[in-house]
Amino acid sequence: AKRWGENSVQVYTSDEPLPPSERLVLKNHLREALANNQLILQYQPQIDLATKRIVGVEALVRWDHPQYGRIEPGRFIGLAEETGLIVPIGEWVLRTACQQNRAWREAGLPAVKTAVNLSARQLKHAELIERVLAVVADTGIEPACLELEITEGILVDSVETNRIGLQTLRDAGIKISIDDFGTGYSSLSYLAELPVDILKMDRSFVMRLGQDGESTRAHALAESIIHMAHRLQLIVIAEAVETAGQLADLAAMGCDFAQGYYFHRPLGHEQIAELLRQQRE
Ligand code: C2E
Ligand code: CA
Ligand code: CA
Ligand code: CA
Repeated sequence: AKRWGENSVQVYTSDEPLPPSERLVLKNHLREALANNQLILQYQPQIDLATKRIVGVEALVRWDHPQYGRIEPGRFIGLAEETGLIVPIGEWVLRTACQQNRAWREAGLPAVKTAVNLSARQLKHAELIERVLAVVADTGIEPACLELEITEGILVDSVETNRIGLQTLRDAGIKISIDDFGTGYSSLSYLAELPVDILKMDRSFVMRLGQDGESTRAHALAESIIHMAHRLQLIVIAEAVETAGQLADLAAMGCDFAQGYYFHRPLGHEQIAELLRQQRE
């Protein structure tokens, strides 16, 4: 386990829970993180497997702490949820991601979608829908270029209270995706009723692909998810693609899009602009 050094710069990359003392320190600092411009966004490209082009990016938040260095979201999103700070942080993420999407367009770069993660607490917030619509209006992002990622468990839990709201967003042209699909506890019959456009197949399925021989069952499972999603007219994105073998299997199964270290790690907005520029040529 990592230690909380006096003067050292710590970089937290794991998702393991923090010791109570560290949690308390970070919780207090998190209140000031937003005000002091310590949060930044990185963007991970999403690739169309048919054309090999970047069709979207997922916005991922990081916290550049003045003493402790870069802190990964696995370390502080939970704290932000507990304190309710996820609501202003989430709104900052949404607004910044939409502004950036618009800025790429204004620089003459090809249109891409930007996917933004929504947490449970944000979905429970009474004003979520109107705030999302306000951010879209303020920033001038194409609504069809905004995608909201909601994990399967949260989506199923909240769908009865949120169905109308989510449908309002879809009617405005905004896309909704089910994140981490396959890790929730929903019955498959539920899938037909969720107001979504895109299914993100969880990394646990992708992980087991691309290894010769012993992967027959994993292969059958991933292929079934893709076929089922297509029957429901959902686009499928595979997450955490790390090897050429995984990519080859997914492409053969008809998976639409993929993201993962095999293609690109999450990148800064200038690096995304550079990739889009190369793609235009
Ligand atoms: P997620 O939504 O499942 O995001 C994908 C995570 O997988 C990201 O980690 C990404 O860097 C990582 N990843 C991408 N490609 C690969 C790969 O090939 N292999 C492996 N092993 N990992 C890969 P990250 O950025 O640390 O984010 C972790 C989680 O934190 C996200 O999981 C999401 O649940 C949450 N999160 C990140 N940003 C936000 C945000 O702005 N708002 C909210 N509510 N949650 C966020
Ligand atoms: Ca996500
Ligand atoms: Ca995910
Ligand atoms: Ca995840």
